Amino acid sequence: MLRFAPSPTGDMHIGNLRAAIFNYIIAKQRGEKFLIRIEDTDFARNIDGKDKEILASLNLFGLLWDELVYQSHNFKRHQKFADDLIKQGKAFYCYCTKEFLEQKKQEALEAHLPFRYDDTWAEIQKNENPKPVVRLFGSSEPIAFDDMIKGRLEFAPNELDSFVILREDGIPTYNFACACDDMIYDVSFIVRGEDHVSNTPKQILIQQSLGYKKHLGYAHLPIILGESGKKMSKRDSASSVDWLLEQGFLPQAIINYLISMGNHTPKEIFTLKVAIEWFSIEDIAKSPVKFDLKRLRYINREHLKTLDENEFALLLGTQDVGIGALGKLYLEEASTLNEIREKLNRIFSPKDISAFYEGESFEPECLKLFETLQIMLGLSACSQGQVEKTNEAILADYESFKNEAITRSGLKGKQFFKPLRILLTGESHGIDLGAIYPYLRPHFKDILQIKGQK
Ligand code: GLU
Repeated sequence: MLRFAPSPTGDMHIGNLRAAIFNYIIAKQRGEKFLIRIEDTDFARNIDGKDKEILASLNLFGLLWDELVYQSHNFKRHQKFADDLIKQGKAFYCYCTKEFLEQKKQEALEAHLPFRYDDTWAEIQKNENPKPVVRLFGSSEPIAFDDMIKGRLEFAPNELDSFVILREDGIPTYNFACACDDMIYDVSFIVRGEDHVSNTPKQILIQQSLGYKKHLGYAHLPIILGESGKKMSKRDSASSVDWLLEQGFLPQAIINYLISMGNHTPKEIFTLKVAIEWFSIEDIAKSPVKFDLKRLRYINREHLKTLDENEFALLLGTQDVGIGALGKLYLEEASTLNEIREKLNRIFSPKDISAFYEGESFEPECLKLFETLQIMLGLSACSQGQVEKTNEAILADYESFKNEAITRSGLKGKQFFKPLRILLTGESHGIDLGAIYPYLRPHFKDILQIKGQK
């Protein structure tokens, strides 16, 4: 069993999503199940509804799970394990108050020594504190494991003093619940962020103390750096999966990007399904990797290119295939769905012809051409025209439209083409008008509007 274990205490960030993707891929490669475990042990920090949001995101990314558990549902089992450990003399009640431990920490600080819990303190305050915690005895042996990315990691016994496994209210700590559940669900391999490296020896010690013999594999992912070169934080908006989706990045492109970060992939552009064929966690680079929005934009554009006009239309929220085709053409200039939406909005919004000034104003020409096109619209049925089938027909259509407009308006060269582009697209530069004309033509009535004028 592979698992992804999100805490419902905040939004999914790309680091979480990356771990989820890798665990999912490895589950598929090994023919094992994929478990989602909602780690809801921190009641004070849990956010209502976050679990559902996380599941919806995983669903959207196609990371479908075979089993779903809420860690809090297993508290009774965790407590039973803790009882067993106490009975076997591997864990003990510790009555130290917070104030006592705080004082000991302060003393260590003043003596310039690292703070270590001393097992002889356990019962000093037995009479003062009715609510003991349960601690697992630390290790007298070093604990080591082979990390598939970081190599062999070893922790000396003095790094593992006796630590809390059940809090004073009987709720298991994160490490204890995690280690127990990994046993209960027969987890075989764990991919997670490198911020968990220091938890791993504790989790191994818990499982060893419980007599668990299975050898678990580990891969701790290097941190992701933001544009500034510092660890990506919540303040970097690109670290939020929701933000990326809101910007119009496709889930399949985000997946493609996260798999290629710090990795050599046989192809630049691929799907999750294809990555299952060749992905190897050992290939992930050890060093931290910088989030590269430019690269994600490139990958997103390549994925958008693979969509057909129907799919494009649906993503743009319309069933009009012509609009889908138009959106696709704009991939020449845009890399996200939002940028394409902006282009289309500009086309369908009344044009502010006074806003375009490039050493000269095109306002009088725009007005002239606008009137001309109004007349042509009234005369011909071009506003209702069908999209022509062949390229030649489209071209011929654009040619005749253009020639008629030139003749009727008396405008020519730049004085004709700039205003035409402004009136049709709301921009003074851009992609080939002949290419987009056939898709614009059925909407001429809506498109040909000037701000402040009917
Ligand atoms: N709940 C932990 C987190 O969100 C997961 C730790 C793990 O995968 O073991 O960071």
